[in-house]
Amino acid sequence: MNKPLTMALTKGRILEETLPLLARAGIEPLEDIHSSRKLIFATTRADLQLVVIRGTDVPTYVRHGAADLGVVGKDILLEHGAEGLYEPLDLGIARCRLMTAGPVGWQGSGARVRVATKFANIARRFFAAQGIHADVIKLYGAMELAPMMDLADLIVDIVDTGNTLRANGMEPLDEIARISSRLIVNKAAMRSHYRAIQGLVDQLAAATGGS
Ligand code: AMP
Repeated sequence: MNKPLTMALTKGRILEETLPLLARAGIEPLEDIHSSRKLIFATTRADLQLVVIRGTDVPTYVRHGAADLGVVGKDILLEHGAEGLYEPLDLGIARCRLMTAGPVGWQGSGARVRVATKFANIARRFFAAQGIHADVIKLYGAMELAPMMDLADLIVDIVDTGNTLRANGMEPLDEIARISSRLIVNKAAMRSHYRAIQGLVDQLAAATGGS
């Protein structure tokens, strides 16, 4: 048999919503992803295997063709670019918003602002488009801490319920983008395995309709 196609999944919150979607499309890992330390999983479909990795690594695997397809948040695609990738399907899962946020009642003086975020490219583009000079400070987590410690004035972060912001004395300000998880496909793989991949896209599109 031919080598199976490989789909790279984003671990964590997105994985929790991806697995039921895959199951609706008849794709289930042959062992429990949560209790296994493995990184590669065979599935109920002999022609498809799954790898489970960090979201930021998913476009890298797919871009280089190490994985043929992937599931990744739109935030990652906006931040790191979607070059070399097709994005044929909005899976409609892990919906959230990418927003600016600041301490409750914060009023900027206008022309210059310090912004802490892990989405440095998105933040630079957003503030530049507003004509505001942003000193962007790259962080890898706990963005809400930065204004409290006077490392930054504002943050750019993912907001779902807003509870994390509220718990830290902050409020959402401007919406930068609505986010959901996307199916991405390696461009060369789309050509060389068109029927198999298009078949998967169609099945996932049908499964998405019910979510
Ligand atoms: P919340 O308190 O519900 O607004 O959730 C905010 C935090 O949860 C953010 O700091 C994110 O890191 C994380 N989060 C919420 N939704 C998502 C999502 N769809 N994808 C990735 N991270 C998320």
